[in-house]
Amino acid sequence: MITNMKHIKNELEQKGIKPTYQRLCILEYLHAHLVHPTVEMIYDKLVERVPTMSKTTVYNTLKLLSEKGVINEITITGTEVRYDINCQSHHHFLCKKCGKIYDVDVTCPFANMDHKEISGHEIQEIHGYFKGICKECLTNQNNE
Ligand SMILES: [Zn+2]
Ligand SMILES: [Zn+2]
Repeated sequence: MITNMKHIKNELEQKGIKPTYQRLCILEYLHAHLVHPTVEMIYDKLVERVPTMSKTTVYNTLKLLSEKGVINEITITGTEVRYDINCQSHHHFLCKKCGKIYDVDVTCPFANMDHKEISGHEIQEIHGYFKGICKECLTNQNNE
């Protein structure tokens, strides 16, 4: 996947966020790693490349990005927040073995968002959580 720094920069500017180097690096990382990383995962990888990066910067940037609707926070595991760059309505599959979170395409009557109301409540976001063993882990299991 080719990540376009210029595109990311525009995206931030459109949302009124100052595109600092560290913010660009964090967003680029999210674009390149679609397994919905945690603050720790992002920090551990980025600090190798950007030594001035701190965990607080990563955390604050992710908070800001999700407030501005650039990314989504996912709490599928119940114990940690995972970050998602894909802001289209979609569902998630959590592998109980390796902890990766995959986007899944499920035909859901509300998925197209034509349907914006349920039992009189206004729908703003739809999150379906699926849990099990991912195909990678299943393959490894069968080869053991
Ligand atoms: Zn797995
Ligand atoms: Zn996702």
